[in-house]
Amino acid sequence: MDNLIDGKAVAAQTRDTVAKAVAALPITPTLAVVLVGDDPASQVYVRNKIKFTEETGMRSLEHRLPATATQEEVVAIVRALNADAEVDGILVQLPLPDHLDSNAVIAEIDPSKDVDGLTEVSAGRLVLGQPGLRPCTPTGSVILAKAALGDLTSKHCVVLGRSILVGKPAALMFLEQNCTVTIAHSRTENLPVVCRSADILVAAVGRPKMVKSEWVKAGACVIDIGINRVPSVKRPGQFRLVGDVDYRKARSVAGAITPVPGGVGPMTIACLLRNTVLAACDRREIDRPE
Ligand code: NDP
Repeated sequence: MDNLIDGKAVAAQTRDTVAKAVAALPITPTLAVVLVGDDPASQVYVRNKIKFTEETGMRSLEHRLPATATQEEVVAIVRALNADAEVDGILVQLPLPDHLDSNAVIAEIDPSKDVDGLTEVSAGRLVLGQPGLRPCTPTGSVILAKAALGDLTSKHCVVLGRSILVGKPAALMFLEQNCTVTIAHSRTENLPVVCRSADILVAAVGRPKMVKSEWVKAGACVIDIGINRVPSVKRPGQFRLVGDVDYRKARSVAGAITPVPGGVGPMTIACLLRNTVLAACDRREIDRPE
C-alpha cells in the first residue's frame, strides 16, 4: 500500500533546497543552539540539528550548560547571542531543567533570530497573518499534508491537541492554508466522531497510539506529530518510538499517513534550517530565496 508520507524523503528535499539557497547567499548563516543539562533525547536532537546545519553549508555554534545552570546564566548566553551580529538564529533546546523558567528564557530571544518561532512576536505575527518565523513542527506538518494532497483549501482539518508549542500554532497554520479547522483537546466530547470528520487529522497529544483506526475517515490524510517512548517488546529494557496514532491499523484506512519515526520529526529539523536562512536574509536585508 503506497499511502505512506515519507517525511525523511521530503525533509531531504527541503534540506537540499536550503543548501542551494545557502550556496547562493553572499554570507554564511549561523545557527546557535543552547543546550542545558543532559536529557538524552535533547542530546540526540541537538546533535542532529548541528549535523544538518553544517551539511547544508551553514555555521553552527553550540553552547552547553550543566543541568545546574541558573536562570541568570542561561539568560546571559541568550543576550550575548542576541548581541552577536554574526548569529542569525537562536534555538534554546526544550525542555529546560525544571528549576528554570522556559517562558522567561524564550522571551529574551531577539524575535529576528527566533528560528523556533516561539516568542510572543512570532506568535503574534502568526495570529495576525503577518510574515514572520513560523514554528518548525507545525510548518513541517503543513508541508507533509501538501505533499500528500496538494492544495489544502477547504479541507476540514482536525488538530488534536492545543499546546502553545504544537497544537495551537498547527491549527493557525492549517487555517492559513484555507482549511476549515477544528481544535480538539482533553475536554472535547465524542473525540472519535470529531476525528472521523477530518479530511486532515493532525495528532499532537503525546499519548502512544491513542488515535485508533476507527477514528480515521476512509481516505483521510493523517499527520502524526506525537513522539512517545514505549518499552520495546522485542528488546527488553530498551525503548522504541511510537506516534499518537495506531499507525499499523490506521494505515489501512487512511489515504495518506506519516510514520513515527520518519514522518514529522525529520521535517522539524529541516524547517529549522529553512527558518535560519529566512532569518539571515531578513536580518541582513537580502531577498528571501524563492
Ligand atoms: P502537550 O502535553 O503540551 O499537549 C498535549 C495536548 O494534547 C494538550 O492540548 C492536551 O489537551 C491534549 N490531550 C492530552 N491528552 C488528551 C486526551 N486524552 N484526549 C484529548 N486531548 C488530549 O504536548 P505537546 O503539544 O508539546 O506535544 C505533543 C506530542 O508531539 C508529544 O508526543 C511530543 O513529543 C510531540 N512533539 C513532536 C515534535 C516533532 O518534531 N515531531 C516536536 C514537538 C513535540 P489539554 O490542553 O486539554 O490538556
